[in-house]
Amino acid sequence: KKQVYHFGTQKTDGDRTMKNLLGGKGANLAEMSNLGIPVPPGFTITTQVCTTYNEIGRDGVIQLLKEEVEAAVAGIEHIMETTFGDNKNPLLLSVRSGARVSMPGMMDTVLNLGLNDDSILGLVARTKNERFAWDSYRRFVQMYGSVVLGMKPETKEDEDPFEEIIDRLKAKRHIKLDTQFTVQDLQDLVYDFKDAVKKSTGHDFPSDPWEQLWGAVIAVFNSWNGDRAVVYRKLNGYPADWGTAVNVQAMVFGNMGENSGTGVCFTRDAATGMNEFNGEYLINAQGEDVVAGVRTPQQITQIGSRRWAELAQIEETDRLNNYPSLEELMPTMYKELYGYQEKLERHYHDMQDMEFTIQNGKLWILQTRNGKRTGAAMVKIAMDLLKEGEITEKEALLQIEANKLDELLHPIFDTKALKRVNIIAQGLPASPGAATGQIVFFADEAAKYKNAILVRIETSPEDLEGMHVAKGILTARGGMTSHAAVVARGMGKCCVSGAGALKINYKKRTMTVGDHVYQEGDWISLNGSKGHIIEGKVATMQPSLSGEFGELMELSNKYATMQVRTNADSPKDAKIARDFGAQGIGLTRTEHMFFEIDRIRAMREMILADTVKGRKLALEELLPMQRQDFEGIFEAMQGYPVTVRLLDPPLHEFVPHQLATQKELAEDLHISLAAVKNKVAELQEFNPMLGHRGCRLGITYPEITEMQTRAIMEAALNLKSKGIETKPEIMVPLVGAVAEFESQAKLIRDTAETVFAENADTVEFTVGTMIEVPRAALMADAIAEKADFFSFGTNDLTQMTFGYSRDDAGKFLSVYLENGILKDDPFEVLDREGVGQLVDLGTKRGRSAKPNLKVGICGEHGGEPSSVIFCHDTGMDYVSCSPFRVPIARIAAAQAAI
Ligand code: PEP
Ligand code: MG
Repeated sequence: KKQVYHFGTQKTDGDRTMKNLLGGKGANLAEMSNLGIPVPPGFTITTQVCTTYNEIGRDGVIQLLKEEVEAAVAGIEHIMETTFGDNKNPLLLSVRSGARVSMPGMMDTVLNLGLNDDSILGLVARTKNERFAWDSYRRFVQMYGSVVLGMKPETKEDEDPFEEIIDRLKAKRHIKLDTQFTVQDLQDLVYDFKDAVKKSTGHDFPSDPWEQLWGAVIAVFNSWNGDRAVVYRKLNGYPADWGTAVNVQAMVFGNMGENSGTGVCFTRDAATGMNEFNGEYLINAQGEDVVAGVRTPQQITQIGSRRWAELAQIEETDRLNNYPSLEELMPTMYKELYGYQEKLERHYHDMQDMEFTIQNGKLWILQTRNGKRTGAAMVKIAMDLLKEGEITEKEALLQIEANKLDELLHPIFDTKALKRVNIIAQGLPASPGAATGQIVFFADEAAKYKNAILVRIETSPEDLEGMHVAKGILTARGGMTSHAAVVARGMGKCCVSGAGALKINYKKRTMTVGDHVYQEGDWISLNGSKGHIIEGKVATMQPSLSGEFGELMELSNKYATMQVRTNADSPKDAKIARDFGAQGIGLTRTEHMFFEIDRIRAMREMILADTVKGRKLALEELLPMQRQDFEGIFEAMQGYPVTVRLLDPPLHEFVPHQLATQKELAEDLHISLAAVKNKVAELQEFNPMLGHRGCRLGITYPEITEMQTRAIMEAALNLKSKGIETKPEIMVPLVGAVAEFESQAKLIRDTAETVFAENADTVEFTVGTMIEVPRAALMADAIAEKADFFSFGTNDLTQMTFGYSRDDAGKFLSVYLENGILKDDPFEVLDREGVGQLVDLGTKRGRSAKPNLKVGICGEHGGEPSSVIFCHDTGMDYVSCSPFRVPIARIAAAQAAI
């Protein structure tokens, strides 16, 4: 079986369709080679070998690969006219990982592989640049030592062992910058690094290039199961058996002098989506210099460069002399690069993120991939590509990552509050949005505060989980393509990078700006769209949506066959959901209305009453409040159907548990404290979620169901008299037996008749049930004979099918997810395999009794894209989700139908 695939200017085996086998990077390198883009030659070891490695280990896998890899290296030597390990004209290689999806910064990379005390002489001779050669050697030993030989800081407060050696030498030589090192210094560093390796690992640093190569290949395989990669996979739900490919490629050098350089570019603006070629580069630098944020990168285009200078308050002459764009500095290179970016975007029909290197005036494209982008850019780019005729409507919809729409719906700063703020420093607008929170300096401590702003000199992939937890990210170093910027944009998280005015001291846990010192825990705010760092808390508000967003939503309607409703308990939420295009309410949790201050008293009075008469008196107080709520909600829904669920939670949730509030209640109701305490104790249950709740309440206290039905019907009649149409759907919760539903349905219908007779008028309504107890799904045919509609309550259905308490599962679910016992949290992503069977079966059995039974879902899964697709496949009429997830569900519904 073929394990190794070639790419480059002469022989290419793969293409873009082979991502699963060659990884994203490998497939793209092959595809680019096929397109005639100048890619440095190399080869890809397949992802299958990674899986094999896990089974047969290091020696086995080397034996398996030996012949093919040796032949492939010979092929590269031939094209580059160099020899691996040669002391006259050495071939140097890069070794990188590449899984089938892009995992930015997650996997380890080794550059300049093949350097040793012999080949360094060849590199010096060939480049006539001693400094560059020794700097490459120094970088190689450092990278290989850290990535392959595991030379890492022991604790997070420790410095990197190699950086420590560098710092020591700088101090000794009284210099500040890497660029001030002499050749002798760099040579000293190489040997000091090697000594440190020997001391720490007990082995000599490998000088045989082949030993180096196999070490790096194995390290890539190992990194697939490294902590960082596992965290990223977990966050994204990627299975462990995908494996990573290994890409081995001829090195080209951007640090060979003033006629060389390296950069990153995007075919469109990854922050706004504007159709504008842009990017950053550095002259005389290696690739990692651009992303590491050690030097300030320059802009590729003249327009971009001018805009950047304006922001950084740099004069035009200063800009031209010190930070010229690539377009101005190397117009021929720029033109060639511009041509390739056009070609690549047109080929892939999507925004590309490319890396390039110029070696002695020759342009090489190192990689291209679909660029990460903000939610706003995602929508604009999809709609623009559609208008440009590059993609079809269906393709535009499929390009949308539904969950990312969240970003467009996130808060921005309240413009009024912004007028009074104190901007303490300016950084780069790395990822838009607004964030306000408390300073933390270490990623693993981000969870310490509910709202944390992670403040770092720069971020690295180790910080990923903390970045996820933080509300915003601030770095002192790094450009728009730095790790922090790219990752934050991918997460849709507000980020300000490269704020050079900040002095960060990890040991003291302080951030200093000018002479003001900020401590851990101090509040700051970030404007990720402008790059502002603001002192203190700033109020936020909801953003307004772009025209493209509206167009996209329109487009989703054209393809979606399933409707999207919302879960809303107040007129305000109902209104927001309507504005997002909700086509009705799938769940109004009436109990939420009872928690307001003026109502909880009447509710408690009702619960505390010992007699039916006492309860009815209290319910009479609640009736007008409920009626008013329903009027507001019905009105906001403008004639769209509204499903109102009868009281559901265990009653003990409503009574006071603290002594002070119990005393208050006793005084208020003129009863003894002992009576209150007794009642509270009486309501205590061992398993409240399996206790006296749902329809069991309405059956034991029918007057509650009567009051709620009355409120709904009176509200509908009142609106009808004002000429406003309503479509009430009354829903009975937690049904498990047909008779439970029948008894409640009869009560509801009888009460409605009474109200209609009193008012000499009627409204149309339906009575249905939730399917959230497993038995209800099994009995669905019998229930459907009596019920007008079904709504799957997948929160309870998941709880009862797994037997995991919704409120306690947090204690063990994280362990389950970490150990791969479960792939996803079943309360977030609907468990198709198990719970899904009940949903499917319930729907089928229900419709077998009543063919046009209306079926929907109102559990949290109704707003989670993959679950929405499942609901579509099951044949549901609608999903219902929280207002802010309505746009996400609409896109997912359209995607499901395509
Ligand atoms: C459900 O159980 O899925 C549901 C929507 O009801 P609740 O979350 O209120 O129990
Ligand atoms: Mg429920």
